[in-house]
Amino acid sequence: MTPPTLDSLDWLRPNLLGSTKMVGVMGWPVEHSVSPPMHNAAFRHLGLDWAYVPLAVRPAEMPEAVAGLRALGFIGANATVPHKRMLYDLVDELTPAARAIGAANTLHIRPKGLLGHNTDAAGFQRALREADMPPEGRHALVLGAGGAARAVVYALATSAASVTILNRTPEKAEVLADAMSAAPASASIEAGPLDRKTLSRYATRADLVVNTTPLGMWPQVERSPWPQDLPYPREASCYDLVYNPRQTQLLRQAQAAGAAISDGLGMLVHQGTEAFELWTQQPAPVEVMRAACEAVLET
Ligand code: NAP
Repeated sequence: MTPPTLDSLDWLRPNLLGSTKMVGVMGWPVEHSVSPPMHNAAFRHLGLDWAYVPLAVRPAEMPEAVAGLRALGFIGANATVPHKRMLYDLVDELTPAARAIGAANTLHIRPKGLLGHNTDAAGFQRALREADMPPEGRHALVLGAGGAARAVVYALATSAASVTILNRTPEKAEVLADAMSAAPASASIEAGPLDRKTLSRYATRADLVVNTTPLGMWPQVERSPWPQDLPYPREASCYDLVYNPRQTQLLRQAQAAGAAISDGLGMLVHQGTEAFELWTQQPAPVEVMRAACEAVLET
């Protein structure tokens, strides 16, 4: 994906007025974020005098940036890589999801203080349902144990029957399993190494596989966390968090085995709809936001 150009995406640009309510996304880098066109399309569609701007914030300057947003009257902001943990530390109050996940991707600036929320978990849950992969009662295999996996495991912990986290660095999977077992979890949570032997052992009972590693993401498009010589279980729905490209090597393997598949666009859209609804207190125009993301990803 090349950065969107103003010519191709002119219809997604906000009109800024003195009365305009401001939100944005803090990242470093932030050029490739699809959140500005996604939210601006929603504001325009609903006729809201709001604007969403990209904010390039150096990691060391996060405290000043957050204080600055408050001083400038912003309603809120998203935080993307590498700022989610820093935002978590800078707010006055955390939602239960942000606290359990240990990171905040959404800031709500209210008169009574700064609220930090994490919309990745609810976004993932909404995306799973939309893809007709409800997590209830499922035996989920989560590949990876990084930041996104924390939100995914938190979301699955209260609904799936079991969650097994497999990671290249197995110690990180164990730390995540321990942390999420302490949450109000109904699922049993296990951890192990992301290798052929362990995958083959768990593949027989998995009925949902979630890739949270960047394997398959541009530019590693030929890579997959699932070994080519290990048959993918056809009963296991496959949700890949990667959305660039939308058809990953893992999804091709799962599809060839006859399994249901979904790319990560739904999670991307719904982490955004959750933030939109928190800030504006009105239902997000989901299809408008999805179309804006698709338009950007196709440029
Ligand atoms: P992260 O915190 O850096 O974690 C990356 C994870 O992938 C770690 O568990 C890491 O294992 C593993 N990994 C990395 N390279 C690997 C390799 N070559 N082989 C095996 N495992 C490898 O990253 P993140 O923030 O969780 O993001 C992960 C992916 O999710 C990215 O592709 C991101 O774009 C995507 N994502 C999508 C959404 C969405 O809305 N769809 C939201 C968030 C993230 P180690 O612990 O061993 O390093």
